Amino acid sequence: MKNSNDFTCDEARALVPAYLDGELSADRASPLRQHLMECADCRTKTQAHKAQRHWFVPTPEVSVPDGFAARVARRAFQGDTGEAPVTAEPLAPILPFVLRMTAAAAALLLVLSGVIRAVDVPTGGQLRADDGATMSLEEALNRLEAMDNGEGRPSEGLDR
Ligand SMILES: [Zn+2]
Repeated sequence: MKNSNDFTCDEARALVPAYLDGELSADRASPLRQHLMECADCRTKTQAHKAQRHWFVPTPEVSVPDGFAARVARRAFQGDTGEAPVTAEPLAPILPFVLRMTAAAAALLLVLSGVIRAVDVPTGGQLRADDGATMSLEEALNRLEAMDNGEGRPSEGLDR
């Protein structure tokens, strides 16, 4: 065993978290302080560590079981979102949801294209057919929003 006044940088840094938590006994803290006085590098690291603690609430150590990362990766590749219990078939509840969302998106597109055409046709003079092709999505959405609000409606055309 080494003289306790002769910490290596690795040993010192291993003790820094406990030291900052005030968990080091005095006879271990004092040689660590000694090392920090003499070692600018470890002092900087300790300061950085201290600054980090300002942002993170310390949590108790959690031991990660062997092969944990591999198991998580394998489950993720199998489509496990982490929401379903381990035993359930992970894909089953998700598929209908995806289908519904796809249908909703298709319906929205259909409605949107219908609205664009509706705006396009009656205003005639203002909008040519080829304007529809060049109209950006943002413009289309703005129009849609304006119609929803009942304002910004083309003054000639729709009301007549
Ligand atoms: Zn050091």
